[in-house]
Amino acid sequence: MQERDIMEVDVLFVGGGVAGLSGALHLVNLIKRHNEAGEGEKLDDISIAVLEKGAFVGSHSISGAVMDPVSLRELMPDFVEKGAPLEGEVTKEEVCLLTEKGRLKAPLVPPPLNNHGFYVVSLSRLTAWLGEQAEEAGIDIFPGFAGTEILYDGDRVIGVRTGDKGIDEDGSKKANYEPGIDLHAKVTIFGDGSRGNLTKALIQKFHLDDGRNPASYVVGVKEVWELPEARMNPGNVIHTMGYPLKRDTYGGGFIYGMQNNMVSVGLLTGLDYKDPYLDPHREFQKFKLHPFITAILKEGKLVQYGAKTAPVGGYFSIPKCGLDGAVIIGDAANLFISQKIKGIHVAMKSGMLAAETILDALANNDFSEKHLGKYEKKLYNSPVGKDLYKVRNFHQGFQKGLWSGVVKGGLQYLLGGKILKDRLPTTPDHSHLKRVKDVYGTSAPTDEMKGIIKFDGSRTFDKESDVYYSGTTHEEKQPPHLKIGDLNICYTRCTEEYHNPCVSFCPANVYEIEINEETGEPEMRLNFSNCLHCKTCDIKDPYENITWVPPEGGGGPKYSVV
Ligand code: SF4
Repeated sequence: MQERDIMEVDVLFVGGGVAGLSGALHLVNLIKRHNEAGEGEKLDDISIAVLEKGAFVGSHSISGAVMDPVSLRELMPDFVEKGAPLEGEVTKEEVCLLTEKGRLKAPLVPPPLNNHGFYVVSLSRLTAWLGEQAEEAGIDIFPGFAGTEILYDGDRVIGVRTGDKGIDEDGSKKANYEPGIDLHAKVTIFGDGSRGNLTKALIQKFHLDDGRNPASYVVGVKEVWELPEARMNPGNVIHTMGYPLKRDTYGGGFIYGMQNNMVSVGLLTGLDYKDPYLDPHREFQKFKLHPFITAILKEGKLVQYGAKTAPVGGYFSIPKCGLDGAVIIGDAANLFISQKIKGIHVAMKSGMLAAETILDALANNDFSEKHLGKYEKKLYNSPVGKDLYKVRNFHQGFQKGLWSGVVKGGLQYLLGGKILKDRLPTTPDHSHLKRVKDVYGTSAPTDEMKGIIKFDGSRTFDKESDVYYSGTTHEEKQPPHLKIGDLNICYTRCTEEYHNPCVSFCPANVYEIEINEETGEPEMRLNFSNCLHCKTCDIKDPYENITWVPPEGGGGPKYSVV
């Protein structure tokens, strides 16, 4: 058996996103206050560590993003004075419906999308800054290390194992081989993001989603552009519905003004879509061709590209989050208010509530489910829990299309959820995909029917060109981190029924099916070094035939302004 180093810490946050970093910082503050108050036993030398799979803190963080500052203000009342990287306070905003060429501006911004007083931020910058604050507070952050396995003592979580480094494509050890280490902790906090690989394993092992709805997601495809002049002031916000998404597809577009004549432009596509040829990256390119968006981006240049999923299943998709030795926070726990398109303050608050629970557990030296389970109660009783409850059936309301969803969502908001009170059940996103013949009939769909467009390389880009702007890199000589359960399914049933939708839904051109010239047989080519870690393939593959696992630590995008 492989000998591994063991490192012991008291509290281990897995995932250096805003949820984990806020939790770690809040815990430091709480311990300080506890010791100063002199009540109970002093908590001396509590070691807190944060594990982050990205090469640096913030490198895998990407979001729209408009932040409700309520949680950041609670964590750090002087966040402005401390130099939090804020692009601009929201003072001007609009919501509009796009048709293919036209635009209908809503006379008023619907209350859930009223962002006045909030801030446009770059999530990668904000996360990097929170990481600096955490390090200054004495928290140990380990970037470049991915958690690949959960460690247990019986049914109690006792930490995680990090991935080995220096493994060749064929699984053999290279000269630079370094075994992963076992990080043991009294409590492990899983904040490994949307469809986090470790949280997924935890949910499956303990059936933490029994009696709840399955998680549901959107994939956001996004670019940051630099414009030749200030066409949108920092903090200006535009949300769109409609074009290019069809009425039966959940989602919408956004464009936010940033500092230095930059704008953040993106499109969210619900992964419960039906059309096997739908390509979220291509839909986003079409979005930029709309005359309204084109006028804003005119003569601008692309600065950065990225893609990521976000959980939109809402209140009823939150798994059980407190167990023996562990809690789950942020996107990993499906904590996202889809009606408001807000996840940052929810993720931060969940990390902070976990920290409050952990302080209590440390003071009582009890890390059992009895103690850590209190986190769930705190979460549901908190303002974010109540906000999630009010619109508990929001996403489910869109199952019958855009207009039905908008009306039901508005009524739920106004009546505090009093219509659609009970849980509307859903099925997993991958089960919504229809077979090609059920969408297009039995003759082969034309490029026009599939919505294929030509990319011009100045306003619209193919996936390979866009990926270049994400900075994503991976060690090429390692086993692919996209695990395909049965390649035969790809070449037979999937080709016949769905025409290999992985080629369309992946926003980074990771999946290509080519015909081998010698054998005439199809072959899957995995361009895994393009991967943006968005997890769409893990979620949307109709046979659940793809599993995303972390590549060698440090691999993946290098976001810095998205
Ligand atoms: Fe996203 Fe999967 Fe493509 Fe990676 S391979 S970019 S996780 S869809």
